[in-house]
Amino acid sequence: MEAQAKPMNRDTPQRIPPNLDELILVTRSGEETQVLGRAIGEAVQESLVIALQGDLGAGKTTLTQGIAAGLGVSHRVTSPTFTLVSEYPGRDGARLLHVDSYRLGDSSQAAQREASTFGMEEILEQAEAPALGEPPAITVVVIEWAERLAELLPPDHLAIHLEHLPDEPDSRRLRLVAHGPRSRALLSRVAQAWTPQPAEPL
Ligand code: ADP
Ligand code: MG
Repeated sequence: MEAQAKPMNRDTPQRIPPNLDELILVTRSGEETQVLGRAIGEAVQESLVIALQGDLGAGKTTLTQGIAAGLGVSHRVTSPTFTLVSEYPGRDGARLLHVDSYRLGDSSQAAQREASTFGMEEILEQAEAPALGEPPAITVVVIEWAERLAELLPPDHLAIHLEHLPDEPDSRRLRLVAHGPRSRALLSRVAQAWTPQPAEPL
């Protein structure tokens, strides 16, 4: 079943600048976080790294499931527990690379060293724009525990910080921060598409 974000009410003045650097949202359920993720996935028009940060249970995998749905991935996305990265085909040749850095170690130095031995730089390079002459295929790399790989992230990435709200077990605060032109353009499209409406689960 399609969960559709409702369009913004056109009567309210739009305060969204065309190029947005930061967006702070609160979701009230896992489903709503998935709807937000879907809006992000649907707004993707070019390759990008999305860096998720937040504690265990903050909703990183839940958000990734929504992003996958928005990218047209039909497989169920779970955390890549025993592999560092899982690959999912999506719409129009697009693909999702889902990285979970949890087991790479909790010091970012150790994590980055370990990630390098797994070829993380090569994985991240796949989210760069395709070379001239190559067919335009979109690669979205979503990284859980991205703070552990901070130094490997490309300058232009969308960072999403997720955190629990005190005394509200099913609410999360999400802070989306664009770090370059591509992520800024994506964030503007997300801000225009998404309204905090409870929606049907994916
Ligand atoms: P992480 O990958 O960050 O460890 P998960 O996405 O695996 O977290 O788990 C988050 C859990 O919290 C899920 O069981 C989800 O249903 C629940 N949850 C409750 N409210 C929310 C919310 N607002 N956003 C995301 N997840 C939520
Ligand atoms: Mg997870």
